[in-house]
Amino acid sequence: MDELTRGLLDFLNASPSCYHAVENLARALTGAGYHRLWEEEPWTVSEGGKYFVIRGDSSLAAFQVPRRDFRGFMIAAGHSDSPTLKLRRQAELPSAGGCLRLSVEPYGGMVMRSWLDRPLSVAGRVLVREGNGIAARLVNVDRDLVVIPSVAIHMDRNVNKGTTLDPAVDLPPLLGTGEDSGAFRRLVAETAGVPEEDIVSSELFLYPRTAATVFGAGEELISAPRLDDLQCVFGCLQGFLAAEDSGSVPVLCVFNNEEVGSATRQGADSTFLTDVLERLAGALGVTGERYQAALANSFLVSADNAHAVHPAHPEYADKKEAPVLNGGVVIKYNASQRYTTDALSDAVFRQICREAEVPVQSYSNRADLPGGSTLGNISSSHLSIPTVDIGLPQLAMHAACEVAGVRDTEALVRAMTVYFSRSFCRREGAVTI
Ligand code: ZN
Repeated sequence: MDELTRGLLDFLNASPSCYHAVENLARALTGAGYHRLWEEEPWTVSEGGKYFVIRGDSSLAAFQVPRRDFRGFMIAAGHSDSPTLKLRRQAELPSAGGCLRLSVEPYGGMVMRSWLDRPLSVAGRVLVREGNGIAARLVNVDRDLVVIPSVAIHMDRNVNKGTTLDPAVDLPPLLGTGEDSGAFRRLVAETAGVPEEDIVSSELFLYPRTAATVFGAGEELISAPRLDDLQCVFGCLQGFLAAEDSGSVPVLCVFNNEEVGSATRQGADSTFLTDVLERLAGALGVTGERYQAALANSFLVSADNAHAVHPAHPEYADKKEAPVLNGGVVIKYNASQRYTTDALSDAVFRQICREAEVPVQSYSNRADLPGGSTLGNISSSHLSIPTVDIGLPQLAMHAACEVAGVRDTEALVRAMTVYFSRSFCRREGAVTI
């Protein structure tokens, strides 16, 4: 297995929740010489300096300050969250048959049946009392802890004909046998390394215990949880770290809460990205007119995985705008602008991919299917700069384990390395990259 794929699998395995994904990004950035800035303190940045900032423990923006007057921002955005089941505050749920389950509700548009009958565990963050304050601690139980058992075919003869699953009834996972004993709360406290009474609140999620792996006759495919969107996040990070100084500010932004509509304090539909850009520009003395001109010379790549043609159901794909696994980076189009790609951003990104010698594929939903949504148009409503929606082709999107192509990660890294090494400049209507 090549080093890049190994790195992707390690990142996926080490990121069972959005909080862990952001912690791993912060660790990678710190290792590459980036320093953390804090939103609650004034920022001082120096030319050539490398920085990142985190909001809500789950969204991150990183940037490098150019050594000369900067022209604009070259931004790429992905998301840290994935569809899962979120634990309720009162987690233990005594159930029939002397069983103890955990009380959960769906987070995002998950493929529910894919979560059945497989070992799952719990990860997230707890808020812990420390003296007079409250601090966040990441937790990952990191062992096979619960299973969501399906109903036997003998009792539900329709099980292979599209049985409906009720999240309130069918999805609470089995923790063990017995009554509400407080064992789960004790386990979380023990994992966090704090006394149980010091845990004030928590955000905990289930995750599949299945490790990310490569498969296929030529080991050309990946099976892993959370490929949407950690494959794009990982690819953008590698390109970001490999890029050369362009005279523009490279910005890597990873948002939480894309799977639930982005309208949160740290989602794409928040002020997070605009706050970061304004504060960075302000720290460099670029304000007012100069800041607006810099924005007009900026570009955004919204990177979120795309649907590949399904081998059993090619009818769900458009006849021509249908990406294939290992076919390269996908540019997404939608006439209603649910994907925000327009002719200008399309042309710019195609030019980038040409320079990177990366194959480009096109994706449109079938004209009679609404399709999904992503970050691009939501970010654009806060930051009106040319934006292209891209992604890597995958199957089984939002299932507990998804499938993608090994070679596509490298294509994205190459494209993003070129992208972050360029400036987007407009002069009297003409564009140069
Ligand atoms: Zn996504």
